[in-house]
Amino acid sequence: MKICRFDDDRLGVVIGDMVHDVTKAQDEIRAAARYDMKGDAVIAALPQWRKRIEEMAAKVPGQPVSGVKLLSPVARPSKVMAAPVNYAKHVAEMAARTDIRKPDAPKRNSSKIAEAGIFLKANSAIVGASEGIPIRFPDRINEHELELVIIIGKKGSDIPKEKALDYVAGYALGFDMTTRGPEDRSFRKSIDGYAPVGPWLVTADEFGDPSDVTATLHVNGELRQTANTRELIFDAPRLIEFASSFYTLHPGDIYFTGSPAGVGPVKPGDVLRARCDRIGELEIKTRAHEIRA
Ligand code: MN
Repeated sequence: MKICRFDDDRLGVVIGDMVHDVTKAQDEIRAAARYDMKGDAVIAALPQWRKRIEEMAAKVPGQPVSGVKLLSPVARPSKVMAAPVNYAKHVAEMAARTDIRKPDAPKRNSSKIAEAGIFLKANSAIVGASEGIPIRFPDRINEHELELVIIIGKKGSDIPKEKALDYVAGYALGFDMTTRGPEDRSFRKSIDGYAPVGPWLVTADEFGDPSDVTATLHVNGELRQTANTRELIFDAPRLIEFASSFYTLHPGDIYFTGSPAGVGPVKPGDVLRARCDRIGELEIKTRAHEIRA
């Protein structure tokens, strides 16, 4: 099943090119959820609600997905995690760059994920496909990092990798957008709009095994990145094991799995089009940030 959020915070099931509105389920789930819960009530309720949501979707006519405003498929994650240095070719391309770091400057982070750990992006950076990415500092280097995104389905801590995929609600595409510069990584990667996720969540049962998944990114029609999760240094189960050795994971938590090689600059007005056969297409536009008090 493909689940989206759209328009003014509505819940939808995507079937083919159509969205079927199941917002009534979302209303009921949220009304029954505790305010102080950690994580997203709808994602937490999916195992119990799955069948009913499918039945509701089948009963209502769809509307073209091209005509709705797509939001992040998760409204309220407890955190956004992200893996750095998780593809060898990306580690190599970053090590070779002189435009973002003086050759003699000390390295801030290890290039080995086991030593570097993962990092967090602010929840407020999350946007959906139709919201676009406001480029905050167009005079600096702003780059796309195409990544497969895991959405956690249930609470867990110290999860062994053998059981890790049981904790996955589904998958989406995402961009770990980055302003390069001297500040702490999490600061530069948490700018509003710098965590696009979408276009929807594909449930884990429909998505299947995450160990051999290809995704591509075109910017303004030019191929920039191709990822295959076979090349991940820490694969999805190991990433979950690693994160949950430090943090309790909660339903709806978002996990960027790392960027392959080919990261590159964007400027306001660019069109980013990520594609994965098992998910679909995440198309998002960049624009100039508007200063608002
Ligand atoms: Mn990244």
